[in-house]
Amino acid sequence: MTEELLRAEHISKRFGGVVALDDVSLTIRAGEICCLVGENGSGKSTLIKIISGVYTPDEGDIYINGHHYKRLTPIEAIHEGIQVIYQDFSLFPNLTVAENIAINELLASGKQIVDWKEVEQIAREGLAKINASLPLDAVVETLPAADRQLIAIIKALLANARIIIMDEPTTALTQREIQALFNVIRELKQRGLAILFVSHKLNEVMEIADRTVIFRNGKKVLDQEAAGLDIPTMAYYMTGRR
Ligand code: ADP
Ligand code: MG
Repeated sequence: MTEELLRAEHISKRFGGVVALDDVSLTIRAGEICCLVGENGSGKSTLIKIISGVYTPDEGDIYINGHHYKRLTPIEAIHEGIQVIYQDFSLFPNLTVAENIAINELLASGKQIVDWKEVEQIAREGLAKINASLPLDAVVETLPAADRQLIAIIKALLANARIIIMDEPTTALTQREIQALFNVIRELKQRGLAILFVSHKLNEVMEIADRTVIFRNGKKVLDQEAAGLDIPTMAYYMTGRR
């Protein structure tokens, strides 16, 4: 299970005088949980935005499923199976669970009349993909963050994600919810998806990572199998200090 899904090579990105990324390369493989670690401002979100087509890199190349991109559009990234779960989950707060899960298929179908049985069917199938059970008719804004996050993950799966990117996904979660999220992430890995898990919480990285990549000041300073790493070593690479 080492199929390469995405390779970003020699990526640099500046914002005015700020060098957000400096000659960074990253490979993402199927069935691998890759943790991207770094202090605030180290360039993590900038890299995510580049590999999801939101920002254009100043330099570098992106290869996804064997296709080469100098610049990638958000639509191309989605077609290549890249899905980002942002911290706000990008849901419709006043629609139900079922409507949120099914809305992309509903819109794509172009039908003028909504078939509610079909909506519920899509939602049930989506929930089953991650063994989740949520009330289909609950309004999404009434749900805790963990449940909204599950809906966002299901939507990513229904959009044929091959790489799911989560930017600081545990910020709004309780300890118990974090463990539930980790179980879902492991399930996705079993299905052969790649997970890019972005965090600066080293205990979480210790628990979930197969491979750990560390950024400091826009540079990649470490990229190795997680098994050989401990928290003091990671903290050293993150900060540059013992
Ligand atoms: P991280 O996600 O690791 O906290 P970011 O990628 O958000 O880091 O930011 C890296 C650097 O680039 C920071 O110095 C940040 O201020 C700067 N930066 C990020 N996005 C922008 C932007 N849109 N405009 C200007 N500066 C930005
Ligand atoms: Mg960030």
